[in-house]
Amino acid sequence: MQKRMTESEIISNFDSALGNEDFFILYQPKINHTTGRMIGAEALMRWKHPEYGIQFPSDFIPVFENNDLIYRADLFVFEKVCGFQRKCLDSGIPTVPISVNLSRYDIYKKNYVDMIEQIRKKYDISARLIHIEITETSAIGGMELVSGVLDVLHGYGYTVEMDDFGSGYSSLNVLKDLPVDVIKLDMRFLSGEVGGRGGTIINAVVQMSKWLDTPVVAEGVETMEQADYMKSIGCNYIQGYLYSKPVTEEEFVKKLKTLEHEPMSPAMELLDAINAGRFWDPDSLETLIFSNLVGGAIIFEYRNDDIEILRVNEKYLYETGMRLTEKEVLEIDPWKSFDEENLQIYKDTMLRAIKSMNEEVCDTWRTVCSKTCGSEKICVRSFMRVIGKTDSSYLFYVMIQNITAEKKLYNELYKSDLRFRAAFEHANMYAWEYNVATKEMRPCFRCMRDLGLPPLVKNYPESAIEIGIIPQDYADMYRDWFRQIENGVKYLEGIIPMTVGRVPFHVRYTVEFDENGRPLKAYGSATLVVDK
Ligand code: C2E
Ligand code: CA
Ligand code: CA
Repeated sequence: MQKRMTESEIISNFDSALGNEDFFILYQPKINHTTGRMIGAEALMRWKHPEYGIQFPSDFIPVFENNDLIYRADLFVFEKVCGFQRKCLDSGIPTVPISVNLSRYDIYKKNYVDMIEQIRKKYDISARLIHIEITETSAIGGMELVSGVLDVLHGYGYTVEMDDFGSGYSSLNVLKDLPVDVIKLDMRFLSGEVGGRGGTIINAVVQMSKWLDTPVVAEGVETMEQADYMKSIGCNYIQGYLYSKPVTEEEFVKKLKTLEHEPMSPAMELLDAINAGRFWDPDSLETLIFSNLVGGAIIFEYRNDDIEILRVNEKYLYETGMRLTEKEVLEIDPWKSFDEENLQIYKDTMLRAIKSMNEEVCDTWRTVCSKTCGSEKICVRSFMRVIGKTDSSYLFYVMIQNITAEKKLYNELYKSDLRFRAAFEHANMYAWEYNVATKEMRPCFRCMRDLGLPPLVKNYPESAIEIGIIPQDYADMYRDWFRQIENGVKYLEGIIPMTVGRVPFHVRYTVEFDENGRPLKAYGSATLVVDK
């Protein structure tokens, strides 16, 4: 019997389903349409309820997500995929990387990545055999959170795919902040029509992905026409009913054995294809991407140590904050806005970009003059990339961020830090911070300089007693202070003769507590006792 389960049935049946292994996985191949070879597969979850029959993810995944169950389901899938890969490796079945879906709620689970790492290690599977699909909705919880998780995943060697790109919420700016390795473009979100608005967006994304050097997999491809269209714009990777529906493990193993495989490779070389002139054409795809889909950006040609700016977009003008017009920017001699030192930095970065054919970054100060705002010095972070070249010239694509405020703040802080340091010197004071939970101590620069301490002292106060900063006869008293700190004392003070020289210091501690009244940190200071 086939029956859609209600939300409460889904929740109450979850534990037994997990225990009885009513959940299972289907595999859908990803294919290179040009060669017919398999480049990977995606693991998709199904639920076979003993009474109600097969349930589909669109019915149960949202319920799992809203009831803190999804991470357990996703861990189950992850473990099954690891188990499957292990089986293939052990029995000599040639396998491909398999991607698993990571719900945005998994990202909110603090140690989710640790949990999958444990599983992967248990099965002794290379991270290269697992891809992780995230959606841009995971950015809803905060960009820092996702990009942090992304860094950790990359650190372990996982390939990360951006799922459901083009589903609406997405923009290429998200991509810039989330450096994923593969983009999955869902044809269904783009109404499948070839040509028209859908086609324009698809084309733009594929083009842009080349600038970013990121391969695209077209998903939900049902017809040969769609697949051929994707191929014609340079996207060969296809996942969809055209090649295969999601299939059982058994059928998938058959495909693994019969189909040839190949690895996914970076996006096709764009360099020859690009034509600088097209940035001039208001109706060209290049212009569309440039004007709408990226942040502040500029395109220029570099020839004989000279640059000619071809295009700047609206956001570039906005970033500089000088109410410049495009015409003004195009008329400026860009070299003249730099002083010698910054010019050198900028040119060196350009040369690095030419050499590496990769993104290179630099921060440079420049003077910008505009009719309305006069002239001002601003600091700009430039992300440079060569997107085209001829025998005598290079076409550069540079995204910019105005970081003047950041830089100024940093300089202020640096100055106030200097003042702070001077005050410490004058007051003859040493200061440090003690973390109650970790027993770590962070000394001030004077402690580091005069006592030769590292920036982080572990196992405090024992380590200080051991090296004689606190003399032996004061050790028990000093240890007792830390017991008192743990037990909630707010303030401590006393005179302690310090170091082998037994120099008397007035030592004080002030303790900081969390909202539950537990001690978090103790701030220590020591001032020299002077005879009056
Ligand atoms: P998704 O990650 O975008 O997965 C692709 C969906 O498109 C799958 O639906 C697949 O069966 C379907 N599909 C593939 N090719 C075609 C095609 O040519 N035409 C059409 N019309 N559909 C195609 P499915 O398996 O029903 O999964 C739906 C969604 O549920 C997935 O979308 C994913 O977001 C979620 N999901 C599935 N398994 C898991 C899982 O283990 N964990 C998590 N967190 N989410 C999962
Ligand atoms: Ca997916
Ligand atoms: Ca998808």
